[in-house]
Amino acid sequence: MALHDNTPLKDVLTAQRRAFDAAPNPDYATRKANLQKLEKAIFESEQAFKDAISDDFGHRSQVESTLAEMIVIKAGIKHQIKHLKKWMRVRKAPTALTYKPSHNRIVPQPLGVIGIISPWNYPLQLAVMPLVGALGAGNRAMIKPSEFTPRLSELLKTVLASVFTDDEVYVATGGVEVAQEFSSLPFDHLVFTGSTKVGTIVAQAAAKNLVPCTLELGGKSPTIIDDSADMKLTTQRILNGKALNAGQTCVAPDYVLMPKSKIEDFADNFIKRAEEFYPTFAGNPDYTSIVADSHYSRLQDLLEDAENKGARIRVAGTDDKQQLAKERRVPVTVVTDTTPDMKIMQEEIFGPLLPIVASETLDDSLDYVQNHDRPLALYWFGNDKVKQDKVLHQSISGGVTINDCAWHVIQEDIPFGGVGPSGMGAYHGEAGFKSFSHFKGVFFQSRFSSGHMLYPPYTDKTKKLLNMIRKIA
Ligand code: NAD
Repeated sequence: MALHDNTPLKDVLTAQRRAFDAAPNPDYATRKANLQKLEKAIFESEQAFKDAISDDFGHRSQVESTLAEMIVIKAGIKHQIKHLKKWMRVRKAPTALTYKPSHNRIVPQPLGVIGIISPWNYPLQLAVMPLVGALGAGNRAMIKPSEFTPRLSELLKTVLASVFTDDEVYVATGGVEVAQEFSSLPFDHLVFTGSTKVGTIVAQAAAKNLVPCTLELGGKSPTIIDDSADMKLTTQRILNGKALNAGQTCVAPDYVLMPKSKIEDFADNFIKRAEEFYPTFAGNPDYTSIVADSHYSRLQDLLEDAENKGARIRVAGTDDKQQLAKERRVPVTVVTDTTPDMKIMQEEIFGPLLPIVASETLDDSLDYVQNHDRPLALYWFGNDKVKQDKVLHQSISGGVTINDCAWHVIQEDIPFGGVGPSGMGAYHGEAGFKSFSHFKGVFFQSRFSSGHMLYPPYTDKTKKLLNMIRKIA
């Protein structure tokens, strides 16, 4: 079914729900076909997607787009198709002795229409991965991609419309007004990926219709470097996590906690290694630009504020400042002598700036983490298993990578999501199937049920029976 371009979003939702009601439980073959159709359409336009993202950013490294958009989507669809049949199975559930020979089952069923609001930083992957989960669980979906990546959003709309009807998958492009209208719709589930600030607004809009939400939010993800860490490996792995997409990654290592005596060496080596990764920042095809002027100025402001408050700033490379500004490129930068009143220590950085906080012991670092919002990710570098266990058990974060950054996010076999202000719920792999399905409990009554013995009128016999049931219940 094709709708007019100016169809109100509420009517698109009605059309999707009607179509869902007419076929509310697509079988495995249909779901698999939908996923294969999605994969084919996306990969046939791979280069166009990469170009659109790059044009939206000013420049986005092609390798980063291949790695963090295309390969993630490919792996997600493959995993979904491989496991879907098993996830869709009706589950046997135990039945208490009192109710036998009747029996219980759990029947997974699609929820209906899933709303997806996605951000600009990995604009294809973060729109498509929730869609993979939604389609795998047998739903229809409406997507509102970010207004910061308009070319990508338009292309996504065209590509998805070439393989899905509007009552299967619909992309709503536009600005914040469209996003507000979108988040006020009575979806069966809403997935929002974006900032904690907007997530709070979206959750309130969804609550008006009692729409359950998966909130994939952001925050400051700490990195703790232990004395036992291999510093060469640690330096390059944190650098890679920070410089990917020029730091515009929700799980980028936001700041480092380490003993004061090691900070100077680490900071110098970090910059040296950054200059090896990127001999220049301006004009370098491997290095990504900052998405918009507003974000570029925000990062400059964070640095200026830190410097004014006494921080030392080390900038990698010797690129011409005007050229960098023209290309909206921010070189990898290390900020030392930080204090809590600096803005860079208060808000999510979302850029290639790495502040370092002096922290002498693991307890100091864990205290620091506990005294701040629960982060989306936490990284620990070291080789002391006792301390590693302590970190895992005493810190709360959405996820953890030990001795590297961000790799836990792309593991389809473990859930990914935030906790507290960094989010709620998860949608990767089986977690997505669970989020986008209703698990319906069904009790199958037996012909030989003794339930009739509890019918009124209640007599002494009924009371005796109740006493007996009380003993075995
Ligand atoms: P954002 O919150 O500004 O915008 C995200 C989406 O929300 C966009 O599609 C936008 O149109 C929409 N939106 C904006 N205002 C709205 C409103 N009032 N009502 C409803 N919707 C509205 O986020 P962003 O700048 O696009 O992305 C960066 C943020 O996303 C960072 O905080 C980052 O950490 C986070 N993020 C989280 C994950 C994750 O998986 N947890 C992944 C990527 C990014």
